[in-house]
Amino acid sequence: MADAAAARGPGTTAMLSVRGLNAWYGESHILHGVDFDVARGEVVTLLGRNGAGKTTTLKSIMGIVPRREGAIAFEGREIGRLASNRIAQLGIAYCPEERGIFASLDVEENLLLPPVVREGGLSVDQIFELFPNLKERLKSQGTKLSGGEQQMLAIGRILRTGARLLLLDEPTEGLAPVSVQQIGRTIRRLQAQGFTILLVEQNFRFAATVADRHYVMDHGRVVDMIPNADLQANMAKLHDYLG
Ligand code: ATP
Repeated sequence: MADAAAARGPGTTAMLSVRGLNAWYGESHILHGVDFDVARGEVVTLLGRNGAGKTTTLKSIMGIVPRREGAIAFEGREIGRLASNRIAQLGIAYCPEERGIFASLDVEENLLLPPVVREGGLSVDQIFELFPNLKERLKSQGTKLSGGEQQMLAIGRILRTGARLLLLDEPTEGLAPVSVQQIGRTIRRLQAQGFTILLVEQNFRFAATVADRHYVMDHGRVVDMIPNADLQANMAKLHDYLG
């Protein structure tokens, strides 16, 4: 990172602070000193080419990579050595790219599956208010849902848990434009309700509609930070980064 101060968010105390994060899958060294911050109430994206290490960064924060080193502070507490269940209990939830909807369970069963780990989570009624389609499909099996409905269910069910920091991995991938717009509206509403969101995205046009700031990753490092207001001015550079 050329300017470490620029990486440090908008001057508020970070809710999440990552410093010198390294991660490995077996012998493969994937993250090489990732640094970034997310302030409470922000929506921040990790942008970057395929294989840059975005998903691995989310998984490292959540404690679900085989090996990680470095400092990860959440609300001032070091979590870089905690097990994933302890990290979840502190109020971080991860929505994976593959969504993880159980095909043999219906919408309601999928929704009620993750345990409530803290107070302050959304009620089922509040989740249905965000995603009315899910209410209509309450007894539909996971397999019968469209991609957009599956994504809404995957996000909806982590909102029950009481998590305040949401790690969303490519929530718009493969979705029709109407579903992408709905995910965008949802992210903005969740931010207005006080959630903090770290979002992995390939689609920076979508990212620009929801995020406050963007971190660019390349080869397992954060190489730039672009405030959303400066995105247009940085378009040429961004095209270079993203290929
Ligand atoms: P993508 O959008 O393609 O997922 P990404 O930036 O999220 O890109 P990661 O998924 O973090 O990238 O992958 C970073 C690197 O780690 C890639 O080279 C990938 O092949 C490798 N990798 C990811 N998961 C594993 C795994 N389970 N075992 C071994 N290598 C992995």
